[in-house]
Amino acid sequence: MTAQFDRIALIGIGLIGSSLAHDIKRLGLAKEVVIATRSADTLKRAEELQLGDCYTTSSAEAVKDADLIIVSVPVGASESVAKEIASSLKPGAIVTDVGSTKASVIAQMAPHMPENVHFIPGHPLAGTEKSGPDAGFPGLFEGRWCIFTPLAGTDETALKTLRHFWETLGSKVDEMDPEHHDKVLAIVSHLPHLIAYNIVGTADDLETVTESEVIKYSASGFRDFTRLAASDPTMWRDVCLHNKDAILEMLARFSEDLAYLQRAIRWGEGDKIFDLFTRTRAVRRSIIQAGQDVDAPDFGRPHPLDKKP
Ligand code: NAP
Repeated sequence: MTAQFDRIALIGIGLIGSSLAHDIKRLGLAKEVVIATRSADTLKRAEELQLGDCYTTSSAEAVKDADLIIVSVPVGASESVAKEIASSLKPGAIVTDVGSTKASVIAQMAPHMPENVHFIPGHPLAGTEKSGPDAGFPGLFEGRWCIFTPLAGTDETALKTLRHFWETLGSKVDEMDPEHHDKVLAIVSHLPHLIAYNIVGTADDLETVTESEVIKYSASGFRDFTRLAASDPTMWRDVCLHNKDAILEMLARFSEDLAYLQRAIRWGEGDKIFDLFTRTRAVRRSIIQAGQDVDAPDFGRPHPLDKKP
């Protein structure tokens, strides 16, 4: 395959940046990949993993002559990165990001972008609870959505080029306005993480149940929450602070609905409980039908007898 880009600069080389690096290399999407990250330690690790061709702790240095720049840092760091790279960007370059919130990233980055570059905010809906350059792997974006939240007047050719890039990684691309994105993500991603952080925190605080019991009996549902609750604290702190309004709105809805369930349990209203649980089971079926998860029991985890012939 001919390279789509002469030079791609990856700013931030954690889970998302390193997964992009693996795919860019695997699919031959760039003649040269430049990697920039803030700390010398992470940079050294990226180099040991051979994630790119050149390595630097200067984002400004990395973006020089790059045709595509992908910013993959915690959303709260978007403005400082935009300020650092602005004056070194090549005219005609595409600058995109992968941040989990969009209105805030646009407010932080757009004012610093020169008029002669194409700034196209994006968000791949793919990830794991791991972070850092060792966490990335090829194929992370395969079959996943990538949402663009383009600004009014964005150049169609640049949009097409970026769309083609993500589609080559196997993603399906959609476009929406940033406020809508932030609302949708608040319910499908941000709220579930908050619930998980909260329930694991509550279990950890319980005085009548010891920590060793929480760990010992964790297979019964709690374990699935601990995966989400192990997600990167910096990333998720920033998501909370940078999608404040939508998250608070969804939390208010969630609290109301929880109170409804609480009341139904208190008054023994089995029909209400049963109806809700039936409705939610159908949601799981729809997710599987949409190809967003597999229909294996217990998320496909191997069980001891599976290994026996
Ligand atoms: P990560 O594994 O923690 O990596 C973060 C990267 O950003 C590292 O290179 C780190 O550099 C750099 N960084 C951290 N703080 C910074 C700062 N203040 N200024 C400049 N650079 C900084 O994170 P990730 O999971 O790849 O997430 C990156 C972005 O992708 C976030 O915006 C997140 O919202 C979004 N996202 C994440 C997921 C997911 O599941 N993880 C999914 C979709 C989108 P050093 O190590 O050198 O400090």
